[in-house]
Amino acid sequence: MKMSKMFVQTMREFPSDAEVVSHKMLARAGYIKKLTSGVYNYMPLMWRVLKKIENIVREEMDRAGAQELLMPFVQPKELWEESGRWDAYGKELMRLKDRHDRVMCLGPTHEEIITALARDVLKSYKQMPVNLYQIQSKFRDEVRPRYGLLRGREFIMKDAYSFDTSQEGLNKEYENMAQAYTKIFNRCGLPTKMVQSDSGAIGGSVSHEFMVLTDTDAGENDVFYCDDCGYAANSNHAVSKLLPAQTDGAKYFSKTEIIDTPNTHSIEELSKFLNIPSTLILKTLVYIVDKKPVLALIRADKAVEETKLMNAVGGNDIRIASSAEIAELMAEKGFDAVPGFIGPNGMDGIQIIADETVREMKNFVVGINQTDKHLVGANLSDIPAIENYVDIRLVEAGDLCPECGKPLKVTQGIEVGNIFQLGTKYSEPMKAVYLDENGKTKPYIMGCYGIGISRTAAAAVEAHHDEHGIKWPIAIAPYHVVIVPVNIKDELQMKVANEMYEKLLEAGVEVVLDDRDERAGVKFKDADLIGFPFRVTVGKTINEGFVEYKIRETGEMLKLTPEEAVKDLIKEILNK
Ligand code: ATP
Ligand code: MG
Repeated sequence: MKMSKMFVQTMREFPSDAEVVSHKMLARAGYIKKLTSGVYNYMPLMWRVLKKIENIVREEMDRAGAQELLMPFVQPKELWEESGRWDAYGKELMRLKDRHDRVMCLGPTHEEIITALARDVLKSYKQMPVNLYQIQSKFRDEVRPRYGLLRGREFIMKDAYSFDTSQEGLNKEYENMAQAYTKIFNRCGLPTKMVQSDSGAIGGSVSHEFMVLTDTDAGENDVFYCDDCGYAANSNHAVSKLLPAQTDGAKYFSKTEIIDTPNTHSIEELSKFLNIPSTLILKTLVYIVDKKPVLALIRADKAVEETKLMNAVGGNDIRIASSAEIAELMAEKGFDAVPGFIGPNGMDGIQIIADETVREMKNFVVGINQTDKHLVGANLSDIPAIENYVDIRLVEAGDLCPECGKPLKVTQGIEVGNIFQLGTKYSEPMKAVYLDENGKTKPYIMGCYGIGISRTAAAAVEAHHDEHGIKWPIAIAPYHVVIVPVNIKDELQMKVANEMYEKLLEAGVEVVLDDRDERAGVKFKDADLIGFPFRVTVGKTINEGFVEYKIRETGEMLKLTPEEAVKDLIKEILNK
């Protein structure tokens, strides 16, 4: 490829709407061009990277025994009604109508389509197990499309679906996919950590995410992990053993009574006012789950993990209540307390979820729905009976590993892939069944396995860059080498550059010749920004028979003859 002909436009500045490194660099280096919010053109350089990732994914999925197909992008409402997700999926599902007023949606994922397809084809146990995958654009009307390709509305995904006749079969395929995923990301030059996670809207019970660990803002997930035993989990799923804490307030409160606690709106103010540790306060938080208020009770030194709470309620959507909503709830129950003084008493008809930390509490302090007052020296018998204690607690770094008891650490992660055990979540409602050995009909036992192709490319940039630009791992770089003649009017420089270019091309190396009539400095800057793994500069030293050979990853520079450089590049790139 000649740089003068390349359909690329590098920019001098980072785009103003870009917050994270990968978005900034991919836009500035001319890999992506925004069309509209969360929707990007993949320019030729980007497309080469994406195709390389896709091909690694393809090779490893095929090797693992999966078969590629391609399903339609536009999907009919009826199948989503069969699975029960038409109502459950929420606004991320982009709904539309065709000219006959038939309601459709743009595919955000394909469980419904593949399950419908399988029930037409997989009629007998003899046809299973089978794993089917596709690589395709998805559309999700994300609440906050941001970070460029990391969270787009239109993005490229590999999605795979397995069909088994037993849980053991599913376990085996799940493990098979976990191994394939590890290989895929390693081959992309992107080591990942496999972490336990919540199953979210897709459903099912067991699931894991593959996280690229990063300390940048781009890591949207907190990952808790144990160096000792290898436990690792997304914060939405992580659990921990509690450190010992003072949970009996007998020392402070000799009787159960309502006392004045003026202006104690926060836990900090309240514990200061009463001169007690926050472990003796029972905190009541109001959430809105699927439009209904829910009270969450937790020991006040701990925070609520919203996904865990949402799962405990069995909802699909959760947010903390606004002060207006709290006021409305108070009015409805005949109270006029402001936030800070809310409590579970008198809240008939409102679902209450109590965290496990509440179970041990004695002689504690709790809001009583009266402004500037609290109930102190309270016990569990003084609040509405709690039928079930659930873990809705957000784990903190330093909490103890649930498996081995050592302190947990926390880091940020970008989720590039995930694997789910779906079981019969789709096959049952969609009546997707087969005949077993005894002629009985049974629903398929399913798994699903996703990889964000475009997100993986962006995560690679997050993991591999410096202040000058991208440092692509060789396996997914758009081109391997750029040859930069310093002065294109110098005959010898151009002759050597052209000869090297031809030789490398012939050997199968992906090479760009920067034949633009630009200053060397401009070409070097672009080479670093675009992130070619190798740069060969043909400048004045060619008069003594040498070119300069630079390795982007390490910054190492070598003086080699053109022949040596070509030989070395072929070895580095093609023998890997
Ligand atoms: P997230 O929690 O990040 O929204 P998800 O749980 O919705 O992801 P899946 O529905 O399982 O993800 O999709 C499979 C993969 O597709 C994810 O692991 C991720 O790599 C990628 N992906 C999901 N949403 C997006 C998006 N909006 N933009 C780019 N890639 C995405
Ligand atoms: Mg999502």
